[in-house]
Amino acid sequence: CGVFGVGGVADAANFVALGLHALQHRGQEAGGIVSHDAEHGFNSARRFGYVRDNFTKQSLMDTLPGPLAIGHVRYSTSGSKGNTQIRDVQPFFGEFSAGGAAIAHNGNIVNANALRRELIERGSIFQSNSDSECIIHLMARSLQRRVPERMQDALRRVEGAFSIVAMTRTKLIGVRDPLGVRPLVLGRLGEGWVLSSETCALDIIGAEFVREVEPGEMVIVENDVLTSHRPFAPRKPRFCVFEHVYFSRPDSILGGRSVYETRRQIGVELAREAPVEADLVCPVPDSGTPAAIGFSQESGIPYAMGIIRNQYMGRTFIEPTEQIRNMGVRLKLNVNRALIRGKRVVLVDDSVVRGTTSIKIREMILDAGAAEVHFRIASPPTAWPCFYGVDTPDRDKLLAASMSEAEMRDHLGVDSLRFISLDGLYRAVGEAGGRDAESPQYCDACFSGDYPIEPSDRIEQGFEL
Ligand code: 5GP
Ligand code: SF4
Ligand code: MG
Repeated sequence: CGVFGVGGVADAANFVALGLHALQHRGQEAGGIVSHDAEHGFNSARRFGYVRDNFTKQSLMDTLPGPLAIGHVRYSTSGSKGNTQIRDVQPFFGEFSAGGAAIAHNGNIVNANALRRELIERGSIFQSNSDSECIIHLMARSLQRRVPERMQDALRRVEGAFSIVAMTRTKLIGVRDPLGVRPLVLGRLGEGWVLSSETCALDIIGAEFVREVEPGEMVIVENDVLTSHRPFAPRKPRFCVFEHVYFSRPDSILGGRSVYETRRQIGVELAREAPVEADLVCPVPDSGTPAAIGFSQESGIPYAMGIIRNQYMGRTFIEPTEQIRNMGVRLKLNVNRALIRGKRVVLVDDSVVRGTTSIKIREMILDAGAAEVHFRIASPPTAWPCFYGVDTPDRDKLLAASMSEAEMRDHLGVDSLRFISLDGLYRAVGEAGGRDAESPQYCDACFSGDYPIEPSDRIEQGFEL
């Protein structure tokens, strides 16, 4: 998901809408904005579909006045997956004794089931199926007087990954979990402040990047003044390495590194680790493009657009049902036949998850008369589900959970298949010495099975580490 907030700027919701539009790649199912103004109090609008189809209408934006607003773009990783109801769309908002608050959450709470059971037993009235709603109820029950302290109370009971943008009547609040699994950055817009999942959304509104909200940090903006707080015991951060590989936009800066440059470097590493003789290097667009450029530069094999993407389709994996996803590949990608015929082609993609995309692409490329097809993948084999906010399917649907690299190659029906090594990936994100096995620098659980936060709800449901 993507989160965005603006405080201390007239008609803040208009900037939030633009910010959410720039974060649309992080969630395409639905979006919402909450604002606050002196006359009406809190105002809220939540809609299915793209930001540009909803939050551009003057009649809707007129209902979201005020100098303080937060927003969220959603794709479901928990709650009613594939069957989102409007009540599951964020930001969530509630009135309680300390005054109202609204929150927008990116990440996933791994003990949400247990918290929810406990809260319902004690009388909380839930409105959604979302894990994030627990936070509002925990805040409402806290015995602290002020909202920021209530939020600290609440978040100390929550286990999982969270980058949160929240607001009260007068405050804009940003928090990251102690490991800093999901991104969150801070920007300035004139006298006002901005919080965003990624820097690309600061650019769109002309805000200036200030710094990242740090892992375990809570920032509070009131009357244009920012204060920093440390509600949690300090831990060594474990940022999501997959943000670098796929999730973030290539024009964003993560941890001081250009996402594009990291992805290009992954391609360079891949070309060194897994060279191949071929005539063309083609990306699977758009997610494989920067790595394909790096592969081509390092190998000297010419880069070409062998697959053309229809710009009017979204990201396939974010479509929540299997059926739509299967159709999606053909609706979205087509082979550039004249270019491919008779050629030995290296195809570079960011990841193989279920393998459905790769099989469709191999069929299309061979149909177009390619002589050979070699897959090079810009991440290690995805063998484990993510429980921290990225929608990987259950283990039994992950190709790499049950097959070796050679078995996957045969299953996909390609001439060769190679994934970047975990150390190669770490080098590409700037860790010259590779992965520190004793104390890894990133979360890489979907590749390694090394979960930095115990997924307690899932273990209760029978998941085995
Ligand atoms: P597959 O068809 O192998 O299930 O999906 C792989 C494609 O989905 C890749 O091209 C990639 O761009 C995209 N993808 C990236 N990340 C994820 C993820 O976390 N989950 C899923 N299902 N697909 C992803
Ligand atoms: Fe990122 Fe993978 Fe960790 Fe999930 S499991 S937070 S996708 S690295
Ligand atoms: Mg892709």
